[in-house]
Amino acid sequence: MKLKKVTFNNADNSFFETLKNEVNEYFESKNKKQTGDFRLYLKTFTLIPACLIIYTALLTAQMPVALALTLCLILGFFLACIGFNVMHDACHGSYSESKRLNYAMGLTMNALGSNAFIWKQKHNIIHHTYTNVDGVDDDIAKSPVLRHCFSQPYKPMHKWQHIYMVPLYAVSSILWALLTDFEKYFKKEINGTKMNHFNLQEHIIFWVTKVLYVFFYIAFPIYMVGVGPFLIGYFVANAAMGLTMALVFQLAHVVETTTFVDAWELEGKMTIQDAWAIHQLRTTSNFSTNSKLVSWFVGGLNFQIEHHLFPKVSHVHYPAISKIVKRVAAEYGIKYNNIPTFTSAVASHFKMMKTFGSRENELIAA
Ligand SMILES: [Zn+2]
Repeated sequence: MKLKKVTFNNADNSFFETLKNEVNEYFESKNKKQTGDFRLYLKTFTLIPACLIIYTALLTAQMPVALALTLCLILGFFLACIGFNVMHDACHGSYSESKRLNYAMGLTMNALGSNAFIWKQKHNIIHHTYTNVDGVDDDIAKSPVLRHCFSQPYKPMHKWQHIYMVPLYAVSSILWALLTDFEKYFKKEINGTKMNHFNLQEHIIFWVTKVLYVFFYIAFPIYMVGVGPFLIGYFVANAAMGLTMALVFQLAHVVETTTFVDAWELEGKMTIQDAWAIHQLRTTSNFSTNSKLVSWFVGGLNFQIEHHLFPKVSHVHYPAISKIVKRVAAEYGIKYNNIPTFTSAVASHFKMMKTFGSRENELIAA
């Protein structure tokens, strides 16, 4: 894929070199693989069967409406958790040492309605390299509907974006599945960056899994329960899934502790002033790292600093290596962003979106 020409100022890379050595030493001394282990496989064999059981029950069993709605919410939440725990690790190649298994488990993204081939380019390459760089990072490219940083154009409607972003996040999983993937597929680009060529296998996987999505998420449920109940269930499950996924991914980068970066022209090249690893620490924040429950459900995405520095290390190892990252960052005088609880991180995201949507900050940006 052809990335936009933006380079990092990696002249002094000693922080990351030291950190990598220490993290490698940790894995060697513990004789552990950097990929997933039984903890990840246990999650896989809990979350996937749970979703299949709930899906089957919703379509075949007679039950009170309140129970059906609760199960739709749980189904949406568990589907998001498959995204965080199984798909995300697999698409980064950290689920297993086997490339084939990573590829196969990455297809859980297609089972959630999206497409692993597009996701790997949007997320692994564009978002992970150019985190919070306006004009490149697709995760903050929701303009003109949402304004995610000061350098994006201001519109009067942004005044309300911290409110209307909730229903937008709630329909985000429907939008990927039925709209934005097709846009990317036909335009062959992601936020202005040309995508890799789809080979025949990827074209077939794209179309076959989209047809399967329509069959299993729409046609078959309508056949089993009728249009009305299907529509309610589909929107409730997607609202839970979309809100959970969008929020968890946004809490890592669009909060009060992180920064947004523009590339500047230096010696004829568009350059970011920091080394890549320092840029990751400036633009990324952890949250709720002391909660084992949050860590289990969000697949270590509450340890986003560790994830951004070591995306090829499975999330099950992040709590252990976070101690090293924190210490080495302190030794180099680099700020380690951490928001103590999930609720305070959510509040911080809403506050930040309100700030980006306020007119007074448009003037600061100008
Ligand atoms: Zn990632």
